[in-house]
Amino acid sequence: MTKRTDYCGRLSSDDIGRTVTVCGWVSKRREHGEFLAFVDLRDRTGIVQCVVDHAHDIRSEYVLAVTGTVRERPPETANNDLPTGSIEIGEATVEILSHAEPPPFQISGRVDVDETIRIRHRYLDLRTSRMQRNLRSRAAINAAIRRSMDDQEFVELETPMLIASTPEGARDFVVPSRLSPGNFYALPQSPQLFKQLCMVGGMDRYYQIARCMRDEDLRADRQFEFTQLDMEMSFVDGREVRAVISEAVSEAAEVITGERPDSIPEIPWSEAMNRYGSDKPDIRFGLELVDLTSVFSDTDFNAFKAPTIKGIKVEAGGDIGRNQLDQLTDKAKSWGAKGLVWVKVGSSGEVTSPVAKFMSEAEISGLLSTMEATEGDICYLVADEWRKVVHVLGLLRLELARPPVNEGGLCFLWVVDFPLFEDVDDDGNPLPAHHPFTMPHADDLELLSKSSVASDLLEVRSQAYDLVLNGWELGSGSVRIHRRDIQQQIFHLLGIGEEESQQKFGFLMDAFRYGAPPHAGFAFGIDRLVALLVGEENIREVIAFPKTQSGTDPLTNAPTSIDQTQLDELGLRVLPPAT
Ligand code: ASP
Repeated sequence: MTKRTDYCGRLSSDDIGRTVTVCGWVSKRREHGEFLAFVDLRDRTGIVQCVVDHAHDIRSEYVLAVTGTVRERPPETANNDLPTGSIEIGEATVEILSHAEPPPFQISGRVDVDETIRIRHRYLDLRTSRMQRNLRSRAAINAAIRRSMDDQEFVELETPMLIASTPEGARDFVVPSRLSPGNFYALPQSPQLFKQLCMVGGMDRYYQIARCMRDEDLRADRQFEFTQLDMEMSFVDGREVRAVISEAVSEAAEVITGERPDSIPEIPWSEAMNRYGSDKPDIRFGLELVDLTSVFSDTDFNAFKAPTIKGIKVEAGGDIGRNQLDQLTDKAKSWGAKGLVWVKVGSSGEVTSPVAKFMSEAEISGLLSTMEATEGDICYLVADEWRKVVHVLGLLRLELARPPVNEGGLCFLWVVDFPLFEDVDDDGNPLPAHHPFTMPHADDLELLSKSSVASDLLEVRSQAYDLVLNGWELGSGSVRIHRRDIQQQIFHLLGIGEEESQQKFGFLMDAFRYGAPPHAGFAFGIDRLVALLVGEENIREVIAFPKTQSGTDPLTNAPTSIDQTQLDELGLRVLPPAT
């Protein structure tokens, strides 16, 4: 094979007169009469035009080594859209290194292809400029994160993949053990317990670009396997963890955008819920929720006799049609609202609304002044208990005004002081909002020990925090419990009995007997960060070999059945699927 001297996309007018050899794939070929043909050759750096005397035996995606002399293109044939468009490789000779069948989809240009076909032929999809750019950006982001963590004196440690279960609130993937038939390893939902043990082990600052596995339904921002920057630090509080992570994500953003993001603001969870109706607010736009409870405190309107009333206002949004309003109302109902009230403001402050006649003059003027609504605006109101109201308006806010993923810049946000429990299950046990190793807020420890009613427990704050980017939850972390007594109390509250906690987490509780430093940590999803930085809506676009929405891999056909010998060796018997 002729030795490559240059990359296609790196040739320029500086190379005119040089004899070069470039190697790559045929992006396009055009015959020009019988004795002249143009071949656009593509490699990882770009495309260059090669002029050959014929191209009869050359097809798209053939792999070639092309040798010739770089020359200037006649001005009328220069291509300004191509970085190498002012030059070409002339009088080229071609060595065919590999033939190619016609690809199932076009590699150049953006064509809409069914995603299953793209994933089945991922090796072809990876040749596209989109995937080349996304995966190279991903590598640059990983490198920036590593650099930042190294600079901040973190030590990179690898934790095992075959482990006992680590609870992160998802289902485990399990692996049967051959040497211990009937027993199973779990694949890590996160390295959580190992990183805490590293702190007991005096590592002080740990990080890992860690693969995690969670058996949950797949979504645009969720795959079974994902990669996270996982870290833990000793003798610090949450603020120091957030500073370290802010630094790492800023470095990552800078390598892609060329700009360092502003310092990342922090808001408490309760404020996020009240202002944006979400614990992962997209703050690229306003449309904040406004509280109207006091405006309607004495209302005669039955639908407004509720613990909470809030509204959002769309400036100059009043020309929306009845059909669209009905659709919004249906959506609000599907999110759990009893109804959605809309109020349009007319030219002299008069209002149009299906419920106008149920509101008093004072209520209408209170509504308009509180919402600062003027001519042409429309307000949407929801009345219910607090959680329902903020949930519905939070979703409505996104529905009405959320910009596309690649618009509106990068708005990072820290959400702090999450509640310790997010809900209570049917057995009356509270469910941890983060994971059971999260330290309650120091000021709420007393409330925690006194609370016997589940609803009081929901008031207890934790020392957990989330990092949000443009409305996506990038990651979570917390100050951890490092005391056996508090950890036991939490297990007890969660309904995890002595025996179960000993069996599942005995090793952690044992470690805490031997001097556990106060510690705190964090993890953020690298797939999500990369997707947002490169402007992709779906994390599959930044993963080399993703699964489809149904969790299968059309490339390798995973998951597949295994043969009887393997089953026997593992002591497994497969039952027919339940009907
Ligand atoms: N283990 C957590 C997770 O994977 C992150 C953390 O608390 O550090 O979400």
